[in-house]
Amino acid sequence: MRSVSIFGATGSIGQNTVDLIARDPGAYRVVALTGGANIAQLAEDAIRLKAEVAVTAHDDRLDDLRAALAGSGVEATAGQGALVEAADRPADWVMSAIVGAAGLAPGFRALRHGTTLALANKESLVTAGPLLLAEARAHGATILPVDSEHSAVFQALVGEEMEAVEKIIITASGGGLRDWPLEALPKATVADAGAHPNWAMGQRITIDSASMFNKGMELIETKEFFGVGPDRIEAVVHPQSIVHALVGFRDGALMAHLGAPDMRHAIGYALHWPDRRELPVARIDLAQIATLEFYAPDLVRYPALRIAREVMEAGGRSGAVFNAAKEIALDAFIAGRIGFMQMSEVVDRTLSAISPRLCLVSPMSGLEDVLHTDHMARNTAWSEIEKMERT
Ligand code: NAD
Ligand code: MG
Repeated sequence: MRSVSIFGATGSIGQNTVDLIARDPGAYRVVALTGGANIAQLAEDAIRLKAEVAVTAHDDRLDDLRAALAGSGVEATAGQGALVEAADRPADWVMSAIVGAAGLAPGFRALRHGTTLALANKESLVTAGPLLLAEARAHGATILPVDSEHSAVFQALVGEEMEAVEKIIITASGGGLRDWPLEALPKATVADAGAHPNWAMGQRITIDSASMFNKGMELIETKEFFGVGPDRIEAVVHPQSIVHALVGFRDGALMAHLGAPDMRHAIGYALHWPDRRELPVARIDLAQIATLEFYAPDLVRYPALRIAREVMEAGGRSGAVFNAAKEIALDAFIAGRIGFMQMSEVVDRTLSAISPRLCLVSPMSGLEDVLHTDHMARNTAWSEIEKMERT
């Protein structure tokens, strides 16, 4: 029986993972499930899956969690320390699906136990890619990508040599504002940007799709995970979201991965890897879809792609600064303090403000260094927003 833990079990990726595990209860022993403020969901899943421990990220919710688990035999713990402690409980397979920089520490800790880490948390690769891969190597652990594009690339590479790879192309839906006239974009509201044409996801990642900050993160993830130079990585707009990524080889062949826009595909692939098992996802009917379109993204419409490319070139700490600044820019957009197109201005200004102070390209020494850079970039981004508000 395989032992599994799910970090961020109550979120969108986490719930899809719980769904797959719950379909085959005899095959898994669930070690830890973690969540945030949604205690009812966390407790319900922990009891249903007979987890050893349920962890809420919020210290002040421990009593609520204990009450919800009373009599079930599931242990309750709380707080950031408890999350890392849960990652110290050995499991064969660990899903890293906490959102944001909070997902870094549990993932790093799980790698120490030589686990297979299914990585949905993009921030881990964007902010600390080289450290994470080194940690996995040092402990004989395996990292499997769960972002749909990276899972698609990973699958297209099965049995191939990296030397034969000419380029990696990831697709982008173009987001909810794809067909808006350029001059209307500065006036886009949170509701406009928060509606996705193809994928059902949380509000933040949906707005990040409209701005393509999400795709920018994914370009950086691609560089870090597959070790391919920025000049060999491309993003292409594909409104149907059926082709998730393509790998081009030196003989001119292009291998594409197609699938329904359902995260259970990428999660299930990581869960059963290296096998392929039946998954409860819709099958593609090409004759019904009839048309698959592709076009180059407009960098004036999507400045996030230009900035991500600069970050890929710079490396070092710039990924951590990029991630933190785009988080703060998104907070400010959702709070109504800046416009939709100003999010990229905040990220540009933060990167420029920090580079003279801290050598952006210098490598990071450890997790502390990543978190320090993250913290500093957040403060800088807020002061840039205040400056923008004054002018
Ligand atoms: P979500 O917001 O739906 O869920 C996040 C989970 O993290 C929840 O369980 C929440 O309780 C927990 N969490 C939030 N803040 C926390 C904190 N400070 N400490 C501990 N736990 C905390 O997010 P999601 O959409 O499931 O995304 C999870 C990760 O996967 C993100 O990094 C996201 O970019 C990535 N991802 C998501 C999708 C998708 O389709 N949703 C696709 C690809 C990658
Ligand atoms: Mg993706």
